[in-house]
Amino acid sequence: MINHEPAKTYIGQCIYCRVLPTPEDPLEDEHIVAFAIEGKDVLEKASCRRCAQKTSAVESRAIEQDMRGIRTVLDFPTRHRRKRSITLPVEIVRSNGEVAEIEVPLDEYPQMFAFPNFPPPAYISRAEYHGGIEVTEIQRIQANRNLDSIAAKYDAREMAVYGLKYYKDWARMLAKIAYAFAVRAKGLDRISAKYAYVLNAILGVADDVGMWVGCDDQNKLPQFQSIDHMCSLYVENGELHARVKLFSFPQAPEYHVVVGKLS
Ligand SMILES: [Zn+2]
Repeated sequence: MINHEPAKTYIGQCIYCRVLPTPEDPLEDEHIVAFAIEGKDVLEKASCRRCAQKTSAVESRAIEQDMRGIRTVLDFPTRHRRKRSITLPVEIVRSNGEVAEIEVPLDEYPQMFAFPNFPPPAYISRAEYHGGIEVTEIQRIQANRNLDSIAAKYDAREMAVYGLKYYKDWARMLAKIAYAFAVRAKGLDRISAKYAYVLNAILGVADDVGMWVGCDDQNKLPQFQSIDHMCSLYVENGELHARVKLFSFPQAPEYHVVVGKLS
């Protein structure tokens, strides 16, 4: 489990490309779960700048775009506090049939959160796989609001919030969380670059994230209500698997990541 007490673990090597630091290219600290969604645990000196640029681009698409609602509602940290929006977009159909996009204040925003559900990792299911990742369903958590009175206020007979746009980045981010967590738990030496299955998907070298990341409708992580993130590892046939849950809402999907083979 992560994020209860902030923990720092010194690594001293890029966990992605394994480069060692030089005076021109020092290493950066790497959050296991991004700081922007309250990730507290850090691998110290664990990412070179090139790899950090790649992983943070993935995370910012998933987090700054697709998680806007919850981040603002829960008041998560942002490095650009002034830019934080205090309204969020909602698409409505007015009583005369006209479709409009309106901005509503947070306390009227109908959705708390949306999570992508994926098929099981293709590596496990042995399903035919052609790259990328599919979304099977979007799991929505409604905000606790009186939607009828909000709809009446805007003359809306239907209200819809935007779906998820960057689900492949979600999957790549989940792969990164599982991998970074595994590095902390097992040590970089035990996860050789050759057998770190998720590494190419994390860095965007291969479009194979659906091979390693997915959902299997099982709940192996403890169930409790909080906004913490959870990750646990287990080994099966010498391979390292992770279960990851972003935010511990009971309704939030639990993701399965096949991290790699241990050496
Ligand atoms: Zn690197």
